[in-house]
Amino acid sequence: MSFVLHVDGERWRAGHDRFVAEHPGVVPVVKGNGYGFGRDLLCGEAARLGVSMVAIGTYAELPSALGAFGGEVLVMEPYRAAVHADLPDLANRRVVHTVTTEPDLVSLREVLADARVVVEGLTSMNRYGTPVADVAALAGVADAVGVTLHLPLGTGHVEEISRFIAAVPGVRTWFVSHVSPAELATLAARFPDHEFRPRIGTDLWYADKGSYEVRAHVLDVRPVTKGTRVGYRQRAVAAGHLVVVSGGTSHGVAMESPSSAATARSRAIAVTEGVLEAAHRVRSPFTVSGVMPRFAEPPHMQCSLLVLPAGVAPPRIGDVVPVRMRLTTTTPDAVVVS
Ligand SMILES: *Cc1c(COP(=O)(O)O)cnc(C)c1O
Repeated sequence: MSFVLHVDGERWRAGHDRFVAEHPGVVPVVKGNGYGFGRDLLCGEAARLGVSMVAIGTYAELPSALGAFGGEVLVMEPYRAAVHADLPDLANRRVVHTVTTEPDLVSLREVLADARVVVEGLTSMNRYGTPVADVAALAGVADAVGVTLHLPLGTGHVEEISRFIAAVPGVRTWFVSHVSPAELATLAARFPDHEFRPRIGTDLWYADKGSYEVRAHVLDVRPVTKGTRVGYRQRAVAAGHLVVVSGGTSHGVAMESPSSAATARSRAIAVTEGVLEAAHRVRSPFTVSGVMPRFAEPPHMQCSLLVLPAGVAPPRIGDVVPVRMRLTTTTPDAVVVS
């Protein structure tokens, strides 16, 4: 266990408390790798926050979410008779399903006559949903808990949501995704009788970015002279120290998408060479002796080879080094909440 996400529990939770106080009606999103923290931990945190509902990404995430959270669980993946009809938990009354067609609704209600659903509207996102003209009819037949809308990045959300609301007069509760606090305030003022429930993951779980940190270990340190060849690819390195640290591709090191690369230059390199191939050209996410050294070559599965320039004091075996990574693509060996 040497690539570990450390969480200062008190500070992390205080960030969540503040966020939830500022976002009434928030539906925490708990999906994928659990934003690096793990889905079960986040479900427990949602319970502590006292929210009534969490939203998950897929039906595959449903059994664990039902186990870890005692309230309502909204599945954001649409229910499809052709895909999901045989899954366990469809009849669990704490589940709120997302439907976009009447045949899917009929299939679901064959499993549980009063299964609760939301109807997803097809927005400019163009992912999945019911066209705006058909939402009112489907929501009516379904006696839907609400309508859900998933908006693309950018602006214009208020007008798009307003068009849906005008077309679906019978529905009071609207679950919305990627709508800013300012846009929510505008909507609340424009539609005082409606309830808007933002579905939020990133801004909630990372509310206090200083409250958690990924840390790796130094596994080996060796002085190298200029031209020494190292690694699978036998690439020649500059003079300095070769530092082997825990953390590799299996933990998500250097697997981030190019858009998250720090500079335009590193983004351009990542696009031309492929993210992993470009790894030796960009700074690694590890901070060693106060600097972020380069990779000697693309990371291996469980460790990475770094080149510390001459003149920088080498670390010692066993030293802890912080790692700056996007947690949605990080798979730590363990998450330690203190
Ligand atoms: C993932 C997801 C969210 C949460 O997104 P964040 O950017 O993490 O807040 C909200 N709505 C839908 C439909 C999603 O798929």
